[in-house]
Amino acid sequence: MNIDNVYAKLDPRLFTKQPPTPLKNPRPGHFNTALAQQLRWPWCDPEQWVSILAGQTVPEGFEPLAMAYAGHQFGQWAGQLGDGRGLLLAQIRTPDQRLIDFHLKGAGQTPYSRQGDGRAVLRSVIREYLAGHALTSLGIASSQALGFVTSDTPVRRESIERGACMLRVADSHVRFGHFEWINRFAPDLLPSFTQSMLQWYYPECLGADQPVLEMLKAIVKRTAQTIADWQLIGFSHGVMNTDNLSITGSTLDFGPYGFMERFEPNWINNHSDYSGRYTYQQQPSIAHWNLSILLSQFLRLGLAKTQLQETLATFEPLFHAAYQKGLTAKMGLTNTDEHFQIGLDFLNILATERLDYTQGFRALSGPWVNMPLEKGLASLTDTVKAPHLSEDFVPRYQAAVQHGLVQTRQPLDVWQQALNSVNPCYILRNHMAQAAIVQAEQDDFSEVERLFTLLIQPYTEQPHLAKPQDTEPPAAHEAAVAISCSS
Ligand code: AMP
Ligand code: MG
Repeated sequence: MNIDNVYAKLDPRLFTKQPPTPLKNPRPGHFNTALAQQLRWPWCDPEQWVSILAGQTVPEGFEPLAMAYAGHQFGQWAGQLGDGRGLLLAQIRTPDQRLIDFHLKGAGQTPYSRQGDGRAVLRSVIREYLAGHALTSLGIASSQALGFVTSDTPVRRESIERGACMLRVADSHVRFGHFEWINRFAPDLLPSFTQSMLQWYYPECLGADQPVLEMLKAIVKRTAQTIADWQLIGFSHGVMNTDNLSITGSTLDFGPYGFMERFEPNWINNHSDYSGRYTYQQQPSIAHWNLSILLSQFLRLGLAKTQLQETLATFEPLFHAAYQKGLTAKMGLTNTDEHFQIGLDFLNILATERLDYTQGFRALSGPWVNMPLEKGLASLTDTVKAPHLSEDFVPRYQAAVQHGLVQTRQPLDVWQQALNSVNPCYILRNHMAQAAIVQAEQDDFSEVERLFTLLIQPYTEQPHLAKPQDTEPPAAHEAAVAISCSS
């Protein structure tokens, strides 16, 4: 493992160096062996990794530090924030020279803890651990984690819960809010910090006429792609504050997130979001708003307002193009406006009938396409479980699919496989994570292990491992699992 703690060499005003505060009586929760091997992490014996993740041991070469950052939370300037319960333990370089951060979440109080206790509870650690793994396995840019530990450290939330720590792995922990902090509290650092971000994360922009502008264009582009990926898979981040958005476009800091079950564009998973700012369908416009905050930080570097506005204006077409491409692929159609409309019509049917988003798309690859219209309609109606599936929609969709099959000379099974490779059968439903949490609180991690294994291949049916509830939304009358910001 090639340690290269570049952040620790920046101006010391940007962070505070300190070791983690150890947890009491730590025990293994789960360890991502495949990721450890991929990163050449050398401490794979449970005794070693538990001790590091619990904050008892700081390996040689690690330089733990808490980063300072600021941000806009729920649309308001929130002032100084920073790593209040996490530490950047170390950074490494991969063989292809990419930087990777190891960040310990739940590692105790820091100068940026404000009123907080510096801890994370087992419940929220398991949710973030499994979600990072699920998103990564789905092919969406995201932080993930090397593992987590539980402990006997009591942590007060609505009740007393177990303290836990998770070793997060991400391509960066630099947030939009880092630039906001610099402009407010140490503006002289803006040129050198920006230069470092260019060198670390956007070296391909260094040769451009205006490297900083080029980097901003790339940030807008990557963010647009990630948000399109969220929308397509039905992921709701929950707290899209500027301190939770990474400058690399990877999904980060998603506590009250949710994977959507019944399709509801106004759906909000985070029960602490009283105003409904971060609903599923608002995510693209919130990302645009956050990018406007980020880009405005560069007026100070002398970038022209019009150039920044033009850069921001690329978000919408980039998002739209990525979303249209993805939605038509999920429908098994070609990327045209006409076929995009068929996809939107299907979403309308899912919304009107409150059908399961994931299972609805998965059902499209059934054998109905090759059947005569009436039989096909009956079959599709049955698999999608949409009793009122529009009689206007099915013939239009069937004709579009059949036309495509003829034109591309694609056999039906190849088409079906392509569809199944973009429409997962397994997502991390709230009730699945909740069942794993309830067991883990009794020190039984077998359900975490089962979900972890199941979600490695979310596009492949695994009847030997899956339970019926893994593919079903809760019944309409059942209360949904309440997810709040408390973590
Ligand atoms: P989040 O909503 O989790 O992104 O956190 C927002 C800010 O609050 C960040 O600066 C966190 O480090 C900080 N924070 C959240 N929970 C705690 C806690 N229990 N103790 C200290 N700081 C916290
Ligand atoms: Mg955060």
